[in-house]
Amino acid sequence: MPAKYSPFEGALKQFEKAANALKLEPHIADILKKHQKVITVNIPVKMDDGSVKVFTGYRAQHNNFRGPYKGGIRYHPDVNLDEVLALSMWMTWKCAVVDIPFGGGKGGISCPVKYMSVAEKERMTRKYVQMIAKDIGPELDIPAPDVYTDSQTMAWIFDEYSKIVGYPAYGVVTGKPIELGGSLGRTQATGYGVAACVREAVKLFNKDIKETTVAIQGFGNVAYYAAEKLYKWGAKVVAISDSQGGIYDKEGFDPIDVMEYKQKTGTVVGYKEVKKISNEALLISECDVLVPAALEDQITSTNAPQVKAKIIVEGANGPTTPEADEILFKKGVYIVPDILANAGGVTVSYFEWVQNFQKFQWDEQTVLNRMEEKLVKAFKDVNATAKKYNVDNRTAALMLAIKRVADAYKLKGDY
Ligand code: NAD
Repeated sequence: MPAKYSPFEGALKQFEKAANALKLEPHIADILKKHQKVITVNIPVKMDDGSVKVFTGYRAQHNNFRGPYKGGIRYHPDVNLDEVLALSMWMTWKCAVVDIPFGGGKGGISCPVKYMSVAEKERMTRKYVQMIAKDIGPELDIPAPDVYTDSQTMAWIFDEYSKIVGYPAYGVVTGKPIELGGSLGRTQATGYGVAACVREAVKLFNKDIKETTVAIQGFGNVAYYAAEKLYKWGAKVVAISDSQGGIYDKEGFDPIDVMEYKQKTGTVVGYKEVKKISNEALLISECDVLVPAALEDQITSTNAPQVKAKIIVEGANGPTTPEADEILFKKGVYIVPDILANAGGVTVSYFEWVQNFQKFQWDEQTVLNRMEEKLVKAFKDVNATAKKYNVDNRTAALMLAIKRVADAYKLKGDY
């Protein structure tokens, strides 16, 4: 039986590649690859039928040299320590690459979330907060939504934590409902950031966005807003998909119209009777730009040789395997890596936190303009680093991020 893939081992391999290219001092590398604190809690939860179940939860705090730990909380039966360790390390690099003053953290509870009632989820969330309350806080560690957690979950965390500390601590979580200090623009942020990365990458190829064809895997939050923005800028969105399959039309789609269809029927498949394609076919379809914005491990050593796009912008986390990465780099495909391409979301989370401290709400356009400004600056920094060191963009993004974290630590000088 093949050994189970360890996301944390993968994260460490990526780190080592970038740290070697940077010629990072061994003791600094040793500090940065280790988590500062990892918390495991066993959470007793009273279920609706009166029984008590114990669920295991985690909060991994990878690094806070540049600011408080930041990262989502995931509820899923597959949540495990290895995954949480990897995700929290990636958060450190993601925040550093877009230069926001946060470190990296991630949490989760292994639980049968799909089969739990709202009341059970609320009790579990509140108990989890009670158990990790000393280790989170607006200046310490700031959770956010992730898989199967949402603004309601954040509202419970905010409320429970505020009761414990005795004041309304809005800055303890981001991704809150607007009524409780959430930021305008958060919903669109990741997709719009992906679209901005597509536009910047296309410019490097001296192409007009209006002459660009884009295939997008997925049609959820990230994929939809990326498609909507690209369509507005005049790009041709030639393919989109969901878990039931995809659609392809070389003349392009109006994503708003397709979304109306999906909301009525539950899938994009069948839209105006255009050509149906599989998700596998979408990844190797005829297009200038491919945006995987659904799941991890989609572009592999099997399909990478057939990818026709010249540019890949990773909306999803981890859609390209390391083997595929090498194949695509050799083919000359320009990849905008996930820690840069989908960082619009965490950037607006940072703006939410800033607004909570300012006690002032920015309007939506201000939020989105500032997000785009940060992302475009990061895009240019990564591109320059890749050229300077003659490395792929993923390694360049990590080098940039690791150097920023290492520099912060060296300046503090605490050995
Ligand atoms: P979502 O749940 O809104 O959408 C997921 C989409 O993927 C849906 O359209 C679903 O139909 C589709 N899908 C599911 N299985 C599929 C399959 N086998 N083939 C093709 N499509 C399939 O999720 P989202 O928030 O859009 O997140 C998508 C990805 O982006 C995830 O990897 C997530 O971690 C990453 N991400 C999201 C954000 C954010 O702000 N939402 C931020 C950073 C990264």
